[in-house]
Amino acid sequence: MKQIDKTYDAIIIGAGPAGCTCAQYLRQSDLKVLLLDKNNFPRHKPCAGGITMKTIKHLPINVEHLVQHTARNMKFSFSKDRSVELQHDTGSCVMVIRDEFDNYFFEETLKTGVQFQKISKLKSIKHKDDQLIEVSFDDYLVNAQYIIGADGANSKVRKLSHEKHHLHPVSAYEGKVSRYSEDDAVTEFIFNDSGYAWIFPKLDHYNVGIGNLVNDHNIKKRTKEDLFKFVAKKFNGREIADITAFPIGTEGIGYAAKNNIFLVGDAAGLAETLLGEGIYNAVISGKYAALSIIDSKEGGRSATSIYNSFLRKLSNELTLYSKGAKILYGFPKISYYAMKLWLGEKFMTGYSNGQTLSEIMGKKNSLIN
Ligand SMILES: Cc1cc2nc3c(=O)[nH]c(=O)nc-3n(C[C@H](O)[C@H](O)[C@H](O)COP(=O)(O)OP(=O)(O)OC[C@H]3O[C@@H](n4cnc5c(N)ncnc54)[C@H](O)[C@@H]3O)c2cc1C
Repeated sequence: MKQIDKTYDAIIIGAGPAGCTCAQYLRQSDLKVLLLDKNNFPRHKPCAGGITMKTIKHLPINVEHLVQHTARNMKFSFSKDRSVELQHDTGSCVMVIRDEFDNYFFEETLKTGVQFQKISKLKSIKHKDDQLIEVSFDDYLVNAQYIIGADGANSKVRKLSHEKHHLHPVSAYEGKVSRYSEDDAVTEFIFNDSGYAWIFPKLDHYNVGIGNLVNDHNIKKRTKEDLFKFVAKKFNGREIADITAFPIGTEGIGYAAKNNIFLVGDAAGLAETLLGEGIYNAVISGKYAALSIIDSKEGGRSATSIYNSFLRKLSNELTLYSKGAKILYGFPKISYYAMKLWLGEKFMTGYSNGQTLSEIMGKKNSLIN
């Protein structure tokens, strides 16, 4: 084992949106950051690449040049005859190619002075003393004051350092379908009691996917075959290519960090279960993990307790999504009428104005926006 002599303020494991956001905010206060990932960039991440307006407010990078489409026209379909069409000039979210977004985010993060190392295997995370935590990967041992687990839904950091495991994973398949110039290019969600599907327009193709967001043994798990059938029916014989699948980290309600080891994003299970949005919570959890460390170093409370205050508020927000998901997937007919009569317009306006779900529902916002 080779001991790396330098001691870092933070070691971040995972260079997706959660890890890169955390790294950039830490670097704004000049902290020493080591970022580890098992992949070199660019790398593929299964994702539809929809980034909501509220996410843009917190991103430490400008992504305008990566935007391939803006969701100004949206359709929510509940059955063959029941759909709701909505419009807003700003648009509820922007569409990027996820691999391009992550690669740009990663490269911008390196420019801030973060040290990056590609690793093969994360082996252990142990408290060395009151101050330092020792991380072992490949043939290396390295110390830091804080460890951030930003390694996604299958988090190894979570497995090595937390008792709370995710026992009910949900997942989704996604792929590419050609987009023709005569198409309407509407952003669409399609719901039924066995899950959800989406059609997200990009410049020359649609990202089309299918998945389950509610883990219930009564609900049949979505398969690749379901995606083929969905595309064949919806696109009249057009084919789907480059299909990949991945879990979505959604079991984070009630998660609390411990002893300077923080999980963020999907590693903590912070994606919501209504529409499967995870990038927003990855970004804000990465940001608030960093701000907690910075506040603590400036003489405040312990960083763990500051981060946990944020997580409690985020849990309230996730609970609201989870209640919505129970109605949406359990009672599609009621959901259709609610969307048609008042909720659809409210959602479209709220998302387009960058509001959180609690703000849209008229509650006092539980998160700093
Ligand atoms: C099919 C699909 C479609 C989706 N569509 C959307 C969408 O349109 N909009 C949206 O907001 N959300 C969407 N999501 C959810 C979103 O992709 C995630 O919530 C988001 O990527 C979480 O970001 P993260 O940084 O926490 O983790 P990730 O993006 O998963 O990044 C984790 C990083 O950690 C690295 N890593 C993993 N294991 C290790 C290890 N052992 N050691 C070192 N590094 C490791 C990985 O290489 C990766 O770079 C979708 C998810 C799926 C599966």
